[in-house]
Amino acid sequence: MPREEQVCEIITVGNELLTGRTLNTNSQWLAERITQIGGFVRRCVVVRDNVIEIAEILKEALRRNPNFIIVAGGLGPTYDDLTLDGVAKGFKRRLVVNKRALQMLRTKYRQMWKKGVIEKYELTEARIKMARLPSGAIPLLNPVGTAPGVLLNLDSCILACLPGVPSEMKGIFEESLKQVIAERTGRVFSYSRTLNVEGIVESSIAPLLEKIVGRFPDVYIKSHPQGIEGGISRIRIEFTGRSRTKGRVKVRVSKAAQELAKVIRKRGGSVELV
Ligand code: ATP
Repeated sequence: MPREEQVCEIITVGNELLTGRTLNTNSQWLAERITQIGGFVRRCVVVRDNVIEIAEILKEALRRNPNFIIVAGGLGPTYDDLTLDGVAKGFKRRLVVNKRALQMLRTKYRQMWKKGVIEKYELTEARIKMARLPSGAIPLLNPVGTAPGVLLNLDSCILACLPGVPSEMKGIFEESLKQVIAERTGRVFSYSRTLNVEGIVESSIAPLLEKIVGRFPDVYIKSHPQGIEGGISRIRIEFTGRSRTKGRVKVRVSKAAQELAKVIRKRGGSVELV
């Protein structure tokens, strides 16, 4: 019995993402990983380090009823790490020191002290800040850095907040969040094929493509023009399908690609199916 699509919205937080100082690799990585494990990413947005902006974007996302909202960035110890303040404001929760999060931080700072990275392992106000979670939240162990991730159940939606440092974000995702999403998506098979097309321009392919799209609504077809080289137009067309049965997705994707290949050949284009 197919389960419902697990809709995810991704929010990345950070002024540096909006000035162009930092390339938003977190957003791309999360989108790819969530898709791989069977989730459906509906939206990615970026907001500044501002409590009101964060609170508003979270409320807006929740109004669309996604299954997951995943936030990356702004969980650290500094004044401009405001993600949890935004969550608290948006969902009217108090920020309270979470005992498990505090224990995680205590362990981390002791380890760093033993290695000589820091002089004192005491939990200072800046360190305790990372254990102040919205009431009802669960901390997620950070296997790479210090700030724990945060999981908050908002009735029909799960909100997860991850640190912005890419290695930490990936670490928490792989260690804790992946299972939470995968449990809900169940097993989904994804299958792709590519047509490399030469000698026909994209505008001439457009009407052919439209017909195939109409005949295969379960296959996502995307053309990627590769430019013109030596007077020859080159286009890569990708066919992707997702299904709970491996056989079905392979048949549908291959059939869509073969049918398009056939009509392109008829129009004089040359085609390689890979
Ligand atoms: P920490 O807990 O380690 O302080 P944090 O949650 O406070 O992490 P940020 O302060 O938002 O994270 O960002 C820390 C670093 O990670 C910065 O160098 C930033 O440029 C980088 N970073 C943040 N967001 C992204 C992103 N979306 N893509 C790539 N790098 C990012």
